[in-house]
Amino acid sequence: MLVRRVNRHANRRLRMQVAIACAGLIAAGGLFWVGAALAAQSRTRAGTQGVPYGNMPALAPIGVRVDRYLEVSDSAKGPAVDPAKGYRTQKLGEGLYMITDGAYQSMFMTYDEGVVVVDAPPAYASHIPTAIAEVTDKPITHLVYSHYHADHIGGATSLGGHPIIIAQQETNRLLARDKDPKRPLATVTFDDRYRLVVGSQILELSYRGTAHAPGNIFIHAPKQRALMIVDFIFPGWMPWRRFAVAQDIPEYFAQVQGINNWDFDTLVGGHVARTGTRADVAIQLAFMEDLKSAAETALKRTTPGAGLNPPDRGNPWAVFDDYIDRVAIDCVNQLTPKWSTRLAAFDVYIWDQCYSMEQSLRID
Ligand SMILES: [Zn+2]
Repeated sequence: MLVRRVNRHANRRLRMQVAIACAGLIAAGGLFWVGAALAAQSRTRAGTQGVPYGNMPALAPIGVRVDRYLEVSDSAKGPAVDPAKGYRTQKLGEGLYMITDGAYQSMFMTYDEGVVVVDAPPAYASHIPTAIAEVTDKPITHLVYSHYHADHIGGATSLGGHPIIIAQQETNRLLARDKDPKRPLATVTFDDRYRLVVGSQILELSYRGTAHAPGNIFIHAPKQRALMIVDFIFPGWMPWRRFAVAQDIPEYFAQVQGINNWDFDTLVGGHVARTGTRADVAIQLAFMEDLKSAAETALKRTTPGAGLNPPDRGNPWAVFDDYIDRVAIDCVNQLTPKWSTRLAAFDVYIWDQCYSMEQSLRID
């Protein structure tokens, strides 16, 4: 069920019309006509808000504040995090743990002589040593970077000590460029595959090319049947805006499809409060396929420039702005009935997803 939204453009126009009507009733006829003429002029003032497009969805578009976002289901909310602790730890299998603050996720794996940490989100990295101390007194010997983004590894120095840092070589290239003291360079890099064996524990790291970002790797714990791939799958949720700002959208689609080929029961996505399952991957993929097909349909049946004010037809940027907005409206309208109740925060990012999808279909 959709929360009813007031379209701000329509609202403003209504208020203006009511004001004009009141002025007309109160004042003499001459004053009414002056008011009406001014209103007509303001409606066509260049660069200002005009009349909303037809078939505007109830979901507020980008740049318009909403009164209230859609409800988030308990299943999407996931298990609560104790606010006094600031994190929650979940055992995924022998010696392997997921740690989350409800918005970010990382992992650590214990073995007979130490601990391997995978990612250190700055949001809670200072709690990671405490979480580890709850299950072992062994030191952190290794740190694996899922990818170079600061929001996932920018807490590396809070872990203390001098762990061996492992990353794909593209990650190191970008870290060398960024020169961020909070993201130290990896000491071990690899191209397509790296098998980390520590005691009786194994982590298989592999790289399939740029999708979300260059150097973003699949991290597989075969014995625990767990797969970590960050910024790809958002269990129960709409992906973060613009496919989690994927740098290569066709490749992102291909790699999400490829997740099915992995041997795993538990997926660690790097975000949201809970881990995922194969079913979560299937739901996200179904959403992505519906989105692609909705954007394709909208692109096909929308005519560039239709309905544009004649003086603007010589402005190709304006023609495209108007065209793309109408494509996105059509795309949002097609997806809302089926998906607004299935993915948490559908309303928050559906406009971004439609804009991103139509652009990828046109230019990739
Ligand atoms: Zn990222």
